[in-house]
Amino acid sequence: MYIDSHVHGDPSAIDDPRAYVAACRERGIEAIVLIEPLDRCLQAVERFGDFIIPVARIEMDAAGVGEIERCIRSGCRGVKFIRPAAPYGDERYWPLYARLEELGAVAVYHTGYLGTRGREMRPVQIEHMRAAQIDAIARRFPELKILMAHYSNPWWEEAWKISWSHPNVYADLSGGTAIHRATRMWAEIFAPDGALLESSVRKLCFGSDVRYFQEGAFAFEPYIAFYDRILDRIGASESLKSQVYWGNVRQLFGLDGE
Ligand SMILES: [Zn+2]
Repeated sequence: MYIDSHVHGDPSAIDDPRAYVAACRERGIEAIVLIEPLDRCLQAVERFGDFIIPVARIEMDAAGVGEIERCIRSGCRGVKFIRPAAPYGDERYWPLYARLEELGAVAVYHTGYLGTRGREMRPVQIEHMRAAQIDAIARRFPELKILMAHYSNPWWEEAWKISWSHPNVYADLSGGTAIHRATRMWAEIFAPDGALLESSVRKLCFGSDVRYFQEGAFAFEPYIAFYDRILDRIGASESLKSQVYWGNVRQLFGLDGE
């Protein structure tokens, strides 16, 4: 069983939600963390029920604390940050992080490289989104629950060190790049010289960053195989695997005890 910690998609594209959820669960996906604007997240929950763990994507340079509150009060488990005008760790964003920390909700950060779409209106500085910024936030807000998406591609080493060192920082290998690196590269990170360094991989979460809600298409399947390959190669125990595949996400988003 897996919970996909990072997905997108338009829930209205599916005619029969019950059949769609059954098809995903048959393939191992028990639930998904859907990252979309608030209204789309709420629509998804309405149609797909507990298959959805909603996380609202906000415009962090325009949003205030009120928008954070609105997202969490309406049922989202967290908020997604991306494309900041200043580095993520900049003081201007602290009120947003402080409120999330108080609410016990999750801050999901896009970390690392961000693709370009045509001619961008707003400049993107990938330096603003590297894992070192998450380090600054975790030091300032140690209780803030953080999910570092995409393992800070290509600053993998930073992400490894920072998720290992901060108790509330989790990370995933979702997105189009990590999956293209050699299994043995990842194995070397998590099991140097073949010896599993469990504390360094314990807060990894399964995640794909693919689109869901496409009839008959299950783009997450290569990611299941990718994670399986890494965890098998490093000799992960069954309990470590279940933590990575679903346990961490349940814990992070406060779904245990529900
Ligand atoms: Zn994404």
